[in-house]
Amino acid sequence: MRHLTVPAAILAAALSLSAQTPAQHWLADAERLEDADADSALALVRRALPRLTDPAQRMKALSLRCWTAASAAPDSVLAYAAAGMAEAARVGDAGAAARLRACRGYGLEAGGKPLEAMADYDFGVAEGRRLGQRDLAATSLLLRGQLRYYRGDFTAALADLDASYRLAAALGDEPQQRSALNSIANLYADPRVAQYDRALEYYRQVLASNQRAGSERGIATAHFNVGSTLERMGRLPDALAQYRRGLEMDIRRGDSAEVAIDRRAVGIVLYKMGRPADALSVLARVQSYARGARDVELAAQTSLSRGVALRMLGRTTEALDELERARAHFTATANHRFLEKVHEERALAYAASGAWRDAFRARGEQMELQRRLDAVAKEEQNTRLRVRFDADKKEAENRALLRENALRREAMEAAARVRRLQVAVLVLSAFVIGALVLLAVRQVASARRLRAMALTDELTRLPNRRHLYLLADAAARTARSRGAGFSVLALDVDHFKRINDRFGHEAGDTVLRRVADAARRALREGDHLGRTGGEEFVAVLPGAPASAACQLAERLRATVETTSFTDIDPSLVVTVSVGIAAWAATDADFHATCRRADDSLYRAKAAGRNRVELAAN
Ligand code: GH3
Ligand code: MG
Ligand code: MG
Repeated sequence: MRHLTVPAAILAAALSLSAQTPAQHWLADAERLEDADADSALALVRRALPRLTDPAQRMKALSLRCWTAASAAPDSVLAYAAAGMAEAARVGDAGAAARLRACRGYGLEAGGKPLEAMADYDFGVAEGRRLGQRDLAATSLLLRGQLRYYRGDFTAALADLDASYRLAAALGDEPQQRSALNSIANLYADPRVAQYDRALEYYRQVLASNQRAGSERGIATAHFNVGSTLERMGRLPDALAQYRRGLEMDIRRGDSAEVAIDRRAVGIVLYKMGRPADALSVLARVQSYARGARDVELAAQTSLSRGVALRMLGRTTEALDELERARAHFTATANHRFLEKVHEERALAYAASGAWRDAFRARGEQMELQRRLDAVAKEEQNTRLRVRFDADKKEAENRALLRENALRREAMEAAARVRRLQVAVLVLSAFVIGALVLLAVRQVASARRLRAMALTDELTRLPNRRHLYLLADAAARTARSRGAGFSVLALDVDHFKRINDRFGHEAGDTVLRRVADAARRALREGDHLGRTGGEEFVAVLPGAPASAACQLAERLRATVETTSFTDIDPSLVVTVSVGIAAWAATDADFHATCRRADDSLYRAKAAGRNRVELAAN
C-alpha cells in the first residue's frame, strides 16, 4: 500500500492574506505549496524565517520548516525540530512546542526509532487535548495510529485513526480526513486483517474526496490502492483496470517514479492472469527505469517479477538469471518475505529445467524461511485477532467489543482462524510439491525421460531409484551428523526370471508388488525403501547399527518366504537375498555404503540365495 504524505493540517488556521511584508507572503505561499511541492515550500520558509519577528508567525514558520523537511530534506528534520522546540520553550508556546515535538517524532520514526517516536506522539495527543487544540490532537493521533498499525497493534491503531478522522471532520480539514481514511483502509486491506470489502469502501471514499479536491496524485494513489485490494481479493481484471487508471494519471502527471510502481503492479497482474509475455514487456520498462534511477530495491523486485514471467514462458535459464539477481539483493537486505518468494520461484524454475537437486535445495531454503515467517505470523495472529475492532463511523460508539463476553467470543474466533491458517499452510505446501511434480511431467516430452523424472515407481508405488537416492542421501547425512550412523539393505528377488518364465510377466509384477509390501511392513518409521531396479530394492535405515539391521533383514526375508502366492500357483514360493552394510567411517557417502551392501548381496546369492549377508566393517 502506498501512503499519503503527512498532512498539512498541523497549520490549520490560514495565514491572513492581509500580511504585508515579503517574508509574510513567502510564508503564506509556503503553506499553500506544502502538500503539492514540499521542496519549494521549504525553500520559501527558509527564506522567510530570518525576517520574521512576530512570535506566532515564527512558530508557524518553524513548524512548517520541520514538516516540509520531512519529505523534502529528511536529514534535517531532527535539527529543525530541536531548534523549533528550543524557541517555542523560550517564548512559552506550549502548543508550538508539542507540534514540533510531534514533528521530531516523525523524524525519529523515519530514523528507525519507533519507541521514541511513540512517546513524542503520545505527548502531542495529550497536549492537544489539554490545550484544546484539536488540529494538534488530530495530527498526533494520525501519526500514532499509523505507527501503531505498522507495529501490528491494529485495535489501538483503529481507535487513533478513527478519533483523528472525527477531529478532522469537526475542523472541516479534508486533507487530514483523507489521510485518516486512507490509513484506516490500508489497515483493513492488510492481509493480516483481510477485511477487503471494508478497505474498498474506505478507499472509494478517499478517491471521491480526492476527486472533489482535484488532487491528481491522490486520485492516482487511490486507484492503485483499490487495485491492490482487488488483487488480494483475486479480482484480477478489476485490479488491472484500476492499476491502469492510476498509471494513465501518473503518466499525465509526469511522475516517473510512480509510473514505474504502477507498471510493476500491472505486470504482476498480467502474469497472474496468464499473460506472461505481456507482463514481460511492461516489466522491461520498469527495469530500465529502476536501473536509470539507481533504485536497487525496485530493480530487485522487478527481477523477481520478470523471473516469474520468464519461467512461465519456459525461458528457465533467463528466469534463473533474474531470480539470482533478486536473491542477491534480498539476501543482502535480509528481506525474508521477498526472499521466500524468490526461493519458491527458483525451485519451480529448476524443476522446469529438470535440475532436481537444485530444485529441492531451493525448496528447502524456501521452507526454512517459511517456517520462520510462519512463527512470526502465528505470534501476530494470537495477539492481533483476539480483539477485532470495529471502526465503522456509525458504529463507533458501540465499542462493547472490548467487554468481557465479546472478548471471549473473539478469542474463540481467533483460535479458529489460527487453526484454519495452519491447515492452509499445509495445503499450500502440498500444493507446491504437487506443482513441482506437475511441472516436471509437463516439461518432459519423451516417455522415457518422463519415467526417469518421476519420483514414484508406478508398479510398487515406492520411491524410484533417483528419488530414493535423494531421500537416502539426506537421511544418511543427518544420521551421520548426529553421530548415529545408518545401515543399508540391498534386496534382490531370487530366480525371478524363472517366475516370469513359468507364470508370465503379469504374475511377476504381482510378485514384485507383494514383495514391496512385505518389505514396507517390515521396516520402521523413518526408514526409506525404494525400488532401484527390476526386482531389486534398497532400504536405508537411519540410526540402525549392524545388529539391528541384521535382525530387520532376517525378519524381512522370513516374511517374504512365508507370504502366500497361492493365487498365482499353489507351489510358488518366493525368496529374497539381502546384503547388509552398516556405515563405516571410511565410507565417503551413502553410495559407498550402498556398494558394500551390493557386494554382500552378491555373496548371499553365491552362498545359495534366500539368506542375509553382512559386510565386514
Ligand atoms: P538371481 O536369483 O540371480 O537374482 O536371478 P534372477 O533371475 O532373479 O536375476 P536376473 O537379473 O537374471 O533376472 C531378473 C529378471 O527380472 C529379468 C527381467 O526380465 C525381470 N524384470 C525386470 N523388471 C521387471 C518388471 O517390472 N516386471 C517383471 N514381471 N519382470 C521384470
Ligand atoms: Mg537382479
Ligand atoms: Mg534376482
